[in-house]
Amino acid sequence: LLGFDACVQCGKCEAACPAYAAGQPLNPKKLIQDMVVGLAGGTDAHFAGSPYPGKPVGEHGGNPHQPIVDGLVDADTLWSCTTCRACVEECPMMIEHVDAIVDMRRFLTLEKGATPNNGAQVLDNLIATDNPGGFAPGGRMNWAADLNLDLMRDIPSVDVLFWVGDGAFDMRNQRTLRAFVKVLKAAGVDFAVLGLEERDSGDVARRLGDEATFQALARRNIQTLGQYRFKRIVTCDPHSFHVLKNEYGAFGGEYLVQHHSTYMAELIDQGALALNADTGGSVTYHDPCYLGRYNGEYEAPRAVLRALGIEVKEMQRSGFRSRCCGGGGGAPITDIPGKQRIPDMRMDDIRETGAERVAVGCPQC
Ligand code: SF4
Ligand code: SF4
Repeated sequence: LLGFDACVQCGKCEAACPAYAAGQPLNPKKLIQDMVVGLAGGTDAHFAGSPYPGKPVGEHGGNPHQPIVDGLVDADTLWSCTTCRACVEECPMMIEHVDAIVDMRRFLTLEKGATPNNGAQVLDNLIATDNPGGFAPGGRMNWAADLNLDLMRDIPSVDVLFWVGDGAFDMRNQRTLRAFVKVLKAAGVDFAVLGLEERDSGDVARRLGDEATFQALARRNIQTLGQYRFKRIVTCDPHSFHVLKNEYGAFGGEYLVQHHSTYMAELIDQGALALNADTGGSVTYHDPCYLGRYNGEYEAPRAVLRALGIEVKEMQRSGFRSRCCGGGGGAPITDIPGKQRIPDMRMDDIRETGAERVAVGCPQC
């Protein structure tokens, strides 16, 4: 409550929020202000700013002795958030909107079993199959059937453990995975994969408020990783990257983890890759939230593109001000309707640059 009370109502979070811009029932400024008045026993009747899209002011109130959701905050407000951290990045008072939202989601998911739309199905899938799509776990390595990859369980130690991620089940992302394997082989990197021993990192379970499933997945992955010797983990998935790098430590999993763009930039600097100049059209680059704002990696993907002779046509909202694509935080799963879709707004940002292609470093974007 003291943290929320620091809000000076500047509206910077509101201006940055993709869910608010899309007309979904979320306004991070009002959320924080409602917490301030509601937890002191008041209502939002005197809130003078912009309401949650589609929700009139004066209908929300609370006190310290009743649940926050519903009453003070509606569930669809919480489920509209993509956890993109644009609000946190802009806030001059260092208010952590996302932590508050995920905390409240935890109550809805774990106490009430009220994860909307496909949320419950995805969480059931994670428990039953270790992947959110509910695919047969035995198919996790089908994308690499002809690549003859080394498995960690067959070799004593490697330099790089390539964490594949659940993009293994997605045909479009499989092309990225195969291309990255080509890069690793071309650079002569000593690497291996976990194969069928890899499980979902737990990212989406945690963002959907299912802390129990997140912790179960994290502990099992940490136990698996603990059997093997490697110098670093490299992954093409910023969500796995973030969780392995920053959230497994609390459970005893401390690793050097890199996004594949960071690792490729290193390989290029070392002269380990002989690159031909790109001959395609112009390119803009979309910064994934979990790589950029969450982990501060803006430069490596651009350095790799530069090394290919590509000059990036930047979007107006790029770098730490990048607009979320709408794919994070389980938002496509909970799927709260608005006036327009966040991905369509991002596609408009891309079109404005006039670039012929868009590069992105995340399977969910
Ligand atoms: S994390 Fe992103 S979507 Fe969620 S409230 Fe903040 S700006 Fe809006
Ligand atoms: S950016 Fe921070 S201080 Fe400004 S309105 Fe939002 S929560 Fe309040």
